[in-house]
Amino acid sequence: MDAARLTTILQEAERYRAQLVVVSKNQSVDDILQVYDHGIRHFGENYARELCQKQCQLPADIHWHFIGHLQTNKVRKIIPFIALIQSADSQHLLDVLEKEAIRYQRSVRCLLQVHIAREESKTGIKPERLDEFIELLLVSSRSHIQVVGLMGMATLTDDEQQIRKEFRLLRQLFEKARQRLPFFQILSMGMTSDYRIALEEGSTMIRIGSAIFGERK
Ligand SMILES: *Cc1c(COP(=O)(O)O)cnc(C)c1O
Repeated sequence: MDAARLTTILQEAERYRAQLVVVSKNQSVDDILQVYDHGIRHFGENYARELCQKQCQLPADIHWHFIGHLQTNKVRKIIPFIALIQSADSQHLLDVLEKEAIRYQRSVRCLLQVHIAREESKTGIKPERLDEFIELLLVSSRSHIQVVGLMGMATLTDDEQQIRKEFRLLRQLFEKARQRLPFFQILSMGMTSDYRIALEEGSTMIRIGSAIFGERK
């Protein structure tokens, strides 16, 4: 774990009043505890099984963020404790989340993941479909889930202008959606390779893994 790098990133995030989420996928419980001991309480994981295995071994005051593609059959595993699901991308998933949240009598916060990158592989709602998606959100009365913002990943490229363009688009979508959805407050964008650009473009939440833990095995 790179404590100096962690401190720098925390300071940068603070300067922009952004929340740091440390991405701990593939990292051991011991490695996560080292970061926890530096005061970090927000961690992000991509896989439900891995998340559950770790969550029960780690302190209860950690806020767990789910940032990977969420399969509906995995929802039940994480609903009892999850703090923020950053990767909601279908009405069906939101329905399943609502059903399970009711079962556990929890109010669950979610972000909508928007597909802003050029790569086809990345999941998320297409930008041109977001309006329609929000329209449906407004007419569906889900009492136990709260959609509080957007998440996106930029194209993996060295072309800074391309990345900036994608983050700028997400920011615009966020500002527009915010006028219709009162709880909108989180714009989650920026990872190790592009978080500085993301902060400049208005990110309120960065998700950083390899800068802090080193390259993933
Ligand atoms: C893995 C991952 C990150 C962190 O990536 P790094 O490049 O290691 O900082 C952030 N967001 C999502 C959605 C991820 O899957």
